[in-house]
Amino acid sequence: MNHLSNSDQLIVAVSKGRILKDALPLLAKVGVTPLEDPGVSRKLILETTDPAIRLVVVRASDVPTYVEYGAADVGVAGKDTLLEYEGDGYYEPLDLKIARCRLMVAGPVAPGAPPARLRVATKYEHITRRWYAEQGVQVEVIKLYGSMELAPLVGLADRIVDLVDTGNTLKANGLAPLEHLCDISSRLIVNKASMKTKHARVTALIGALAEAVGESSPWSNP
Ligand code: AMP
Repeated sequence: MNHLSNSDQLIVAVSKGRILKDALPLLAKVGVTPLEDPGVSRKLILETTDPAIRLVVVRASDVPTYVEYGAADVGVAGKDTLLEYEGDGYYEPLDLKIARCRLMVAGPVAPGAPPARLRVATKYEHITRRWYAEQGVQVEVIKLYGSMELAPLVGLADRIVDLVDTGNTLKANGLAPLEHLCDISSRLIVNKASMKTKHARVTALIGALAEAVGESSPWSNP
């Protein structure tokens, strides 16, 4: 595998968007600040103030893939993405407590008569199937890649499963939260081989981040 890091360097993959925005101040607390603004730079691998750590900023759903295959040693990804990802080739040692929100079923504030079989639009196909299977409810899951809130407005679906933070997006579109699947926050994930081959560096980073988020970690006092 074409591996960019060597034993002295860690590559940290961070989800684009809201998670990156919350992760940057946290990484800064542990001495890791990108030398170029990730929002502006066209570089895909960013050097940081810690010469041993480089950042890659990637699409949320790609973070577990980068970490599972060892292209990144460490990742920052939402629990929603991890629950949806069908693989377990990484450790999940730390809740970073950032980008917190809830994964919810939502639907029209004033729904019509429910159809025999609900159609549910979501980008969380696996989570949604598992949720309704647990309830013993048969649904048709429609996979979307964004703007889930639009689906009930245009008759594509009766329900959506999506992240809700303030609830403003639902409200603005005549939707209401109906069921709470789980609470979500960003997690630190670690490649299993890196945990062995780069143990000191990886555990130092986990320990520093654990301290920064006020968690005790088995690696806080190495
Ligand atoms: P809100 O209007 O504050 O409830 O935010 C809802 C919109 O923001 C939806 O489109 C969600 O998919 C998205 N969203 C909310 N929280 C998060 C998060 N922690 N990470 C990524 N997207 C989020």
